[in-house]
Amino acid sequence: CSLAERICHSCFRRQDKLQRCGQCKFSHYCDRTCQRAGWAEHKQECAAIKNYGKAPNENIRLVARIMWRLDKDGGVVSDTQLTTLDQLEDHIEDMAEDELKEFKVDIHNFLDYWPRNSKQHTSDVISHIFGLINCNGFTVSDQRGLQAVGVGLFPNLCLVNHDCWPNCTVILNHGK
Ligand SMILES: [Zn+2]
Ligand SMILES: [Zn+2]
Repeated sequence: CSLAERICHSCFRRQDKLQRCGQCKFSHYCDRTCQRAGWAEHKQECAAIKNYGKAPNENIRLVARIMWRLDKDGGVVSDTQLTTLDQLEDHIEDMAEDELKEFKVDIHNFLDYWPRNSKQHTSDVISHIFGLINCNGFTVSDQRGLQAVGVGLFPNLCLVNHDCWPNCTVILNHGK
């Protein structure tokens, strides 16, 4: 939660003074420009957080953001996207018992958070997205590339070897 107040939710820069979203009081931004840039992704989340009374954990927030984007754009969100989310593996059947337990808690909380007026999905679809994040999610880091600030799903990156014992780190700093 404290990280959510120190990192801009749009450009992921760490700033001493961020401005808070007046609606949900959760999202923080450098300035109006960053807030406007992040609004398309935050709009539905903003209302959901307000209704839920707090922000759910980052996996639940990410699943919701992915769902809203899929409902809006379909499976492929850009010309350069090489794969769709239904082609990726979730490896749910390989999960250990205790891992599966946590997983079910997340799904349960997701269903409480997901707005009634958003498109409803079967629990299979929801589990698949949670499973994808679990085994295909990549860490999002701050502008220095040193601190993890969240998790994201990047379909093209999922095609690259993402073994659990990596032998290298790639840092992308604003495209450089
Ligand atoms: Zn910013
Ligand atoms: Zn908001």
